[in-house]
Amino acid sequence: MHAQGREFQIIRDYFQCQALTSPQVILGIGDDCALIAPRAGYLQAISVDTSVAGCHFPADASAFDIAYRALNVSLSDLAAMGADAQFFTLALTLPDVDEHWLQAFSEGLFRAAANARVVLAGGDTTRGPLSITVQVHGDLPAGTALLRSGAQVGDYLYVSGCLGDAAAGLKAYQQGDEQPELLRAYLRPEPQLVLGQQLRALASSCIDISDGLLADAGHILAASGVAASIDLESMPLSPALCSYLPYSQALALALTGGDDYQLCFTSHLAPEVLGIEGVYCIGRIQAGSGLQLLNPPAGFTLDKTGFDHFDERI
Ligand code: ADP
Ligand code: MG
Repeated sequence: MHAQGREFQIIRDYFQCQALTSPQVILGIGDDCALIAPRAGYLQAISVDTSVAGCHFPADASAFDIAYRALNVSLSDLAAMGADAQFFTLALTLPDVDEHWLQAFSEGLFRAAANARVVLAGGDTTRGPLSITVQVHGDLPAGTALLRSGAQVGDYLYVSGCLGDAAAGLKAYQQGDEQPELLRAYLRPEPQLVLGQQLRALASSCIDISDGLLADAGHILAASGVAASIDLESMPLSPALCSYLPYSQALALALTGGDDYQLCFTSHLAPEVLGIEGVYCIGRIQAGSGLQLLNPPAGFTLDKTGFDHFDERI
């Protein structure tokens, strides 16, 4: 079969097979473009992420996990904006045609798509070093987007779940340590879409934590022109992380590790008023610039720098 025929066969066998539909996707895979009907009064939210083998995920990870992770990492940006996820496109670069690999990839992709109720509306399939680009599309009522720039002095600083597990999972994988729970946090991140939509009415700013809490909270502070203090004793650390690493190392990964895809957000509402289960208040927004870390354990240091200000005791 000539190369072109093969490409169409891949698209038909592995990507055209989906049960989900969306009222916004008028025409999906199969023509030159997808046709989309935007909702009146809504703004479209669009984000794209590329995952490269050996860089953004281990090249020997399962095809199911690679696809599941690539879509969820991209959806996490819609969650951080407070958007409803609607559909996505997939640009897939494959070194060769391995039907077992493609079957598992397709299953992982559509499992994540079903969880978030997003439709695959189109894409591109080419040959080359393994790389997956996912563009996600969502929408939100005009004027309700969760921007990085809205944090106010006096706001509370929150995170949506335990941090550091994904970075510890990757470390365990690289070292050959058996840590299935932590590895799962790295390979199967879950986009916080429901929470993001809930926060449209409650939060003043929001970001998803892909590069580590300090770096990503730092983006909120810089965009909002404010400072923050984080109480390290209130950082949420999972039992799995705490049993794998000593407290100081666990804390360092939770602050700088990345890949957790939890949300970091600010709100003028105190925890008891905010009333959302499973979120953790870790600090407050203050006037000024930079981040202050309160209550560090004895002798605590961080390898990564780039933060304007540390508590003097560190
Ligand atoms: P064109 O040459 O017009 O760009 P393609 O041959 O690249 O068209 O793709 C044919 C159809 O299949 C298009 O509708 C495209 O969106 C879709 N498609 C191609 N690759 C993928 C993929 N990996 N996943 C989903 N849809 C795809
Ligand atoms: Mg094309």
